[in-house]
Amino acid sequence: MEIHIRNVSKHYYSGGKTIKALDNVDLTIPANQIFTLLGPSGCGKTTLLRCIVGLESPDSGEIEIGGEVVWSRDKNIFVPTENRGLGMVFQTYAIWPHMNVFDNVAYPLQTRKIARDEIRRKVDKTLRFVQLEGFEKRPATKLSGGQQQRVALARALVAEPKVILFDEPLSNLDAKLREETREELRAFLTDLQITAVYVTHDRIEALALSTIVAVMNKGRIIEKGPPRDIYFNASHRFVADFIGRTNLIEAKVTAQEGPVTTVDCALGRVACRKQAAMGPGDDVTLCLRPEFIRLKRGNATQSQNVFNGKIRSLVFIGEAYEGEITVHDAPLFIKVEPDSKIEVGDSVNFTVDPENCLLVTR
Ligand code: ADP
Ligand code: MG
Repeated sequence: MEIHIRNVSKHYYSGGKTIKALDNVDLTIPANQIFTLLGPSGCGKTTLLRCIVGLESPDSGEIEIGGEVVWSRDKNIFVPTENRGLGMVFQTYAIWPHMNVFDNVAYPLQTRKIARDEIRRKVDKTLRFVQLEGFEKRPATKLSGGQQQRVALARALVAEPKVILFDEPLSNLDAKLREETREELRAFLTDLQITAVYVTHDRIEALALSTIVAVMNKGRIIEKGPPRDIYFNASHRFVADFIGRTNLIEAKVTAQEGPVTTVDCALGRVACRKQAAMGPGDDVTLCLRPEFIRLKRGNATQSQNVFNGKIRSLVFIGEAYEGEITVHDAPLFIKVEPDSKIEVGDSVNFTVDPENCLLVTR
């Protein structure tokens, strides 16, 4: 089911102030994708989700789900939540502690006057799918956090929704369980071939789980694309910075030649991947991710993009050293192999592949 959001705006009024939660959002969520809304806290993710679901009404615009307009101010249409064919999983997974697993999952069907045999068949099938077979009689409170999360997923899926929506469903789990559940969820959603809309502020969750990521800020969708595109080819400084750690360096374009755009910045002259939209004299930002800064042992043989710097700090985090290197007083975050034989105070040469030097407009 495809979802179209057209020019949707939403304001809240609170304590005499007007808060613009959604600012003219125009967005198509394609069918059968795991589509993530990623953005900082307060950027409007939950508001947008609640508008799609029908728990909130926008001020203006139109929302269409699977070819049916479910909300339009101009056309005076409001389809209530229960008739939109959706399943939802929220942050506080809100399974009912006084009910066992079976009743928790059966609940959405029991409110619809469906025959008991049919309910049992559907609940059994859904519990098999989320691998909770045999847990039917278990009180919901006697489950681990991950199992409770699967009960919440089963309850959202049992009525066979056309679209399933998640609002930060993993944020209450501890780090290890969050990673495991993330993998599980990806497998479940990929098998289901369903349209999934997933909200998170966690960039790694977004990259790991989604087929498409839409980055939001201040009530607007800034950019969207497959995870690798967003990570390597962001067009906006905000997006490049939010999707992963990056060094942002003010630069000026000096030349465009072949596949290379050359800039001058605090590092000196840097050859970067070509940005067709830029020309000599333009003020731009160079985005350099710490993992693409490669330290050289001995004398560097390349002539391009070789720099010299001094290691300022180093922190061992197991899978890498993270630290800071200064080049002409400009600090750069670096991330280097855990077996690197370097120490604070060392003077080192490093290189960056022009392919990994991304330029964005300021
Ligand atoms: P996110 O989910 O991205 O953290 P929200 O959609 O919850 O963001 O909120 C967007 C903005 O709207 C925030 O500034 C938030 O404080 C405000 N907001 C959300 N819900 C309400 C409400 N019911 N009343 C007043 N302000 C709200
Ligand atoms: Mg939220």
